[in-house]
Amino acid sequence: MLSFWEQQSFIKYDYLIVGSGIVGLSTAASIKEKEPQATVLVLERGIFPTGASTKNAGFGCFGSVTELLSDIDVMGEENVVKLVTRRWKGLHKLEQRLGAEGIGRKNFGGTELLLKDKKYKDLNERALANIESINRLLTPVFGKKVFEQLPTQKIADLGFDASQVAHLIFTPFEFQIHTGDMMRALLEYTMKLGIKIINGCEVSAIEDQGNRVTVHTKGHVSASEVGFEAKKVAVCTNGFTRKLLPDLDIQPGRGIVMVTEPIEGLPFKGTYHFDEGYYYFRNFGERIIFGGGRNLDKATETTTDFDLNKLITQDLIEKLTHLILPHQPFEVAHTWAGIMAFGGQGKTPILQPVSDNVMVGTRLNGMGVALGSTLGEEIAAELI
Ligand SMILES: Cc1cc2nc3c(=O)[nH]c(=O)nc-3n(C[C@H](O)[C@H](O)[C@H](O)COP(=O)(O)OP(=O)(O)OC[C@H]3O[C@@H](n4cnc5c(N)ncnc54)[C@H](O)[C@@H]3O)c2cc1C
Repeated sequence: MLSFWEQQSFIKYDYLIVGSGIVGLSTAASIKEKEPQATVLVLERGIFPTGASTKNAGFGCFGSVTELLSDIDVMGEENVVKLVTRRWKGLHKLEQRLGAEGIGRKNFGGTELLLKDKKYKDLNERALANIESINRLLTPVFGKKVFEQLPTQKIADLGFDASQVAHLIFTPFEFQIHTGDMMRALLEYTMKLGIKIINGCEVSAIEDQGNRVTVHTKGHVSASEVGFEAKKVAVCTNGFTRKLLPDLDIQPGRGIVMVTEPIEGLPFKGTYHFDEGYYYFRNFGERIIFGGGRNLDKATETTTDFDLNKLITQDLIEKLTHLILPHQPFEVAHTWAGIMAFGGQGKTPILQPVSDNVMVGTRLNGMGVALGSTLGEEIAAELI
């Protein structure tokens, strides 16, 4: 049972955010930047953010040529330009809040590898034929040409298996971040704004009573539930949202990532993608961070479990050995998994009211580092 003091000082807030990933924290920050006097509480079930935001590969990216073309097929040009604009704006907002150093920004650019396997023939031809049309679409967003094809000699220079890689498409706008430092800086930023965060606190239900919202939680030491109260609530739980809002069109999607031990004389720097973005790798100093392969076993990967899928980890090692680093030995230092969220037609996130005083902002797909700050700003604008 709560004490009178707890009821007085710990339970009531103006705004309550469920989930302390990049979207939840950005929403809280946007509210507090606009309304410094408001009381804002973030509830997080993990000891620290435990979904995608602390588990990702740290690409400051907005879509490769093949990804964008495939998105255009599903969503149409106009919606893709809108989405890229929101991603690019989000990356700026993140850096504006935390500084280039705070996010660990490294400007090495990003490159898409078009593979030689004949199953990619049509995709490659289409990508090369459309570089300029994509550039025309995106120049208003970036102010300059976004993509260019690199000379094929570069494939060998970067140490990739030239018998497997046909072409490279480069963008100077993509960059790397340090995922851990970025999230730590974002947590510190929100705390400096006076936002309260409670960890180890899972929200089990949300009840909008019109004049206030009760947010029921479990995991309290006294074994009784604690019901927090707020005027407005935002649900920012991404891959875990169906547990709270079972009717939303959203599915979890696990992503597996590995990091190697340092490799002496690693021949490349930057962020890289292939297979329409299903695989992605980058350097981290002299290490390689490599992830993806969800498309190999989508049914198993539609899960909120953080286990590792053997088929996918073996495939990642095979691709590291033969495609990415064919000339050097390496050792995998660590492998982990994170949970993304997919669903709907295309990659537009969900931003909608659940009831009069509750908004949901979620389903970030594979590019929430970019989109997170923009979505947070949009959720805050709906709540305030
Ligand atoms: C392996 C991997 C690699 C990726 N690589 C990149 C990349 O390089 N670049 C990029 O832009 N994007 C990348 N992404 C995607 C990006 O990380 C996500 O889109 C983004 O982090 C989503 O942020 P979020 O705040 O919506 O979700 P999350 O970070 O998942 O945050 C949701 C939070 O809600 C909490 N929560 C859930 N349910 C409850 C509940 N009931 N009560 C309380 N708390 C709850 C969770 O514990 C979690 O901390 C990657 C994702 C993965 C998994």
